[in-house]
Amino acid sequence: MPKPKLAVLSGAGISAESGIPTFRDANGLWEGHDVMEVASPQGWQSNPELVLEFYNQRRKAALNAVPNRGHEILVELEQWYDVTVITQNVDNLHEKAGSSKVLHLHGELFKSRSTVDESLVYQMSGWELNLGDYCEKGSQLRPHIVWFGESVPMMDDAARLSRAAEVFIVVGTSLVVYPAAGLLNTIGPEVPKYIIDPNMPSISSMPNLFLVEKIGSAGLTEVKERLLRSYGL
Ligand code: NAD
Repeated sequence: MPKPKLAVLSGAGISAESGIPTFRDANGLWEGHDVMEVASPQGWQSNPELVLEFYNQRRKAALNAVPNRGHEILVELEQWYDVTVITQNVDNLHEKAGSSKVLHLHGELFKSRSTVDESLVYQMSGWELNLGDYCEKGSQLRPHIVWFGESVPMMDDAARLSRAAEVFIVVGTSLVVYPAAGLLNTIGPEVPKYIIDPNMPSISSMPNLFLVEKIGSAGLTEVKERLLRSYGL
């Protein structure tokens, strides 16, 4: 018997217990910066040095961060479910925890990309990317991040996975960044949808919606127990 398909949409909140701050909790500033300065094509054009330094600092913090209980529970659920994590996060804590299938909607901190050929993507081992670091075609490398105003290449895959899900969990996202937030509306009415967040985002009512107003580790503990009970475990 194939395992039932479980899709998870995760956001910055799941990494908060690992010491990586969320974005919107800090009054719309991301680590003290206007998001358009550090996470938009315009910001990159006007001050690439600032943008590179911003992501260097995020990378440095992520390098030392360890997954928390929330990330671990998503790995444990693979014993009973075919789990795919669709994450808005650019850190690699789902992979560090051991999740087998992770789709990064908004890019990955530990990858860089050519500014002349977006098919040239490079894995990074350290935390630094600087002006003067070039791709094999001789152009400046940029962070492999989907910035505000850029298209989201993984969106079709994410929508397909969401539509196929038999259980859907949303954890730690303010659900204000589109098109990611729209995934919730693609889920069938019969599918149980669990939303975990200590400050519940406003969500239009839909069938089989379960709101768990808790931080990631506690909320996922509760949801895991409920799911296993449905298995008679
Ligand atoms: P967001 O900052 O807009 O929202 C964070 C959500 O997490 C809020 O609803 C908040 O109530 C909730 N939260 C706070 N503490 C929590 C906890 N301990 N457990 C569970 N939930 C908690 O984040 P977003 O919706 O993911 O959108 C922000 C964008 O910024 C994303 O696109 C992402 O790429 C980027 N970002 C990424 C990281 C990361 O990779 N860790 C961190 C900050 C921002």
